[in-house]
Amino acid sequence: MASPRGDSGHMIVKQILVVEDERPIREMLAFGLRRAGFEVREAADALAARSAVANQRPDLLIIDWMLPDTSGLELTRQFKRDRDTAELPIIMLTARAEEADKIAGLDGGADDYLTKPFSPRELVSRINAVLRRAAPAEADDNVAFNGLTLDQASQRVLAGERTVPLGPTEYRMLAFFMTHAERVYTREQLLDRIWGGNVYVEERTIDVHIRRLRKALEEFGYDRFIQTVRGSGYRFSTRAE
Ligand code: CA
Repeated sequence: MASPRGDSGHMIVKQILVVEDERPIREMLAFGLRRAGFEVREAADALAARSAVANQRPDLLIIDWMLPDTSGLELTRQFKRDRDTAELPIIMLTARAEEADKIAGLDGGADDYLTKPFSPRELVSRINAVLRRAAPAEADDNVAFNGLTLDQASQRVLAGERTVPLGPTEYRMLAFFMTHAERVYTREQLLDRIWGGNVYVEERTIDVHIRRLRKALEEFGYDRFIQTVRGSGYRFSTRAE
């Protein structure tokens, strides 16, 4: 099946959402980050940032401390409190150099902190460091459950010694499930996390891929790990339903 996006998946451009009300600064940041190879979206306040994240999950957020509606610190806290966005890496920007603010920023859940003025190169190196820390499971780690092994380096799933035949979308779906086991995801969350939000895919599409994934796993006796949670969505679990 032709997939709308993502199955090319080898060159993954990281997407950054820049949240800053001062337009010249925001545009300068966006310009520098695009030049560094990132995909950039912009939000001028906390409200716009929340709606942008709900619409399409970025890989990282850059949030300015001083925003006109909610403070950047409070916005960071909100994202970190919400289960859906708790893992989103956040770098906080501020014009204040005081140590107390820095500590408050990190207490609020920011993954890193930069005081203005800073060089674009400094920002890019912080971003790369935070992204590396945020995605240990995206490295070459193997994840295994009861003999079912996700080999992310070779992009295969093995049942014992045998490769489970999976289409690219089913692979991405199973890889997501195996790196987020025992948690329930709604169809909407799965669309967002597996396909990304800016492409129109019907929620029913999820069910089609779930069916294919179960069918592929069935032969090896692992289909029971892909569990339907009534009224909620799906979960990967090695426990009985
Ligand atoms: Ca600002």
